[in-house]
Amino acid sequence: MINKIPPLKQMLKQLQQVPYLASKNLYRVSSHFLDMDFQKLEQFCNVLIEAKQKLEKCSICCAWKEKKETCLFCADTKRDQGLVCVVETWQDLLAIEKTGGYKGVFHVLGGSICPLDGIGPEQLSIGVLVKRTQQDVKEIILALNQTPEGEATSAYIAQKLSSTVTVSCLAQGLPVGASLEYMDRLTVYKAISERRPF
Ligand SMILES: [Zn+2]
Repeated sequence: MINKIPPLKQMLKQLQQVPYLASKNLYRVSSHFLDMDFQKLEQFCNVLIEAKQKLEKCSICCAWKEKKETCLFCADTKRDQGLVCVVETWQDLLAIEKTGGYKGVFHVLGGSICPLDGIGPEQLSIGVLVKRTQQDVKEIILALNQTPEGEATSAYIAQKLSSTVTVSCLAQGLPVGASLEYMDRLTVYKAISERRPF
């Protein structure tokens, strides 16, 4: 039926490419957009385009920053620039920031090593991290997710860096398979403040 309505088919095809949008929600989300007031929809699209135009990844920590501005983390003199917390995603960085108790800086890898999905060390920002640790970094905290991929990535990074800097990881007792993004603030805070040597 949908094939006979090309604009609808096109729209669904585009939405289908959005990760995390479960297929059962596809029609609901489509209806939401179609029911939207035209001006609001236009504003929605413009905000997305503007964000895409104005944001870039910081060349040091790979977190999002405004193109014309300095990085909120790397240029902050109140933060300990020698303490680098390594996370898989920007969402994990936000989870740590929300605890309000971490005063170091970050490094966003962009995921974890997963050969089945074709993601090797070259697809992540591990090279940038290695280069970074050759300067004034004293300690890196591996705050990757408690998944087989996260653990394999931590082991890979630790093996590359343990001769140059102190490598620590999150406290024990975190739920297996858990992602920092979905943990409560206190758990994340405890995990990072009670970190242990890798
Ligand atoms: Zn930065």
